[in-house]
Amino acid sequence: MNTAPLLTLENVTVDFDGFKALTDVSLSLAPQDLRVLIGPNGAGKSTLCDTIIGRVRPTSGRILFKNQPITALPEQDIVRRGICRKFQTPGVLPSLSVMENLLVSARKNRAWWLAFSSSPPAAEQERAEEILETIGLTDRRETLAGSLAHGEKQWLEIGMVVATDAELLLLDEPTAGMGPQDTQRTADLILSLVGRHAVLVIDHDMSFVEALNGYTTVLHQGQILREGTVSEIRADAAVEAVYLGR
Ligand code: ADP
Ligand code: MG
Repeated sequence: MNTAPLLTLENVTVDFDGFKALTDVSLSLAPQDLRVLIGPNGAGKSTLCDTIIGRVRPTSGRILFKNQPITALPEQDIVRRGICRKFQTPGVLPSLSVMENLLVSARKNRAWWLAFSSSPPAAEQERAEEILETIGLTDRRETLAGSLAHGEKQWLEIGMVVATDAELLLLDEPTAGMGPQDTQRTADLILSLVGRHAVLVIDHDMSFVEALNGYTTVLHQGQILREGTVSEIRADAAVEAVYLGR
């Protein structure tokens, strides 16, 4: 069995002009695995995502993807190697339909001549149909993305990330602004992706984290405070103190 990690962070530190947003963060993620990253506001979660995708450069430390260092690569090269990120706020193309959004996203990482050819190959169309079903938006296929409800936009954007066929999906607060029902549906959607992709999910909503029930890393003031199963994290006094501000 191949047990080599897909992603490894080795002692990653990010210093913004004297402010340490991340200090000595090390973690590794296996292929097709789920990792949940939680922590209060300002803990450094989004910075960690930015650093993996090459938008922020670590001051020290290394990041390896499929055993290759990616620390110094430009963002587009990292994306091309198979990492795709969903931002905190939905970034769908509002004047295109749901289906068109998926097709555009699927082609973003392909050859330029494919991205500009007018009719998608059957396989691409088929894959987009599959994703449409996974994200539960089959009946919204022709709806303009701009007129979707908030939760639907988030699901479409997850679908767009999936459509890139990236091996590692980074999802930054996919439940932002959602009620309990949509939050549960988002957890189910993410769980259905694990096994085909490795997924790193960032959030701070404990009910969502419990629904995901994955191996969880707690970040606090730029450092890893705890790692473990959700029940271990739940029972941890230091984690509770951070969350309740005690
Ligand atoms: P989280 O996503 O966990 O809420 P962030 O990673 O967004 O936290 O931010 C962590 C800390 O780093 C915050 O205190 C934030 O103000 C700071 N920070 C984030 N980006 C920058 C930046 N580009 N320059 C300076 N400070 C930043
Ligand atoms: Mg954030």
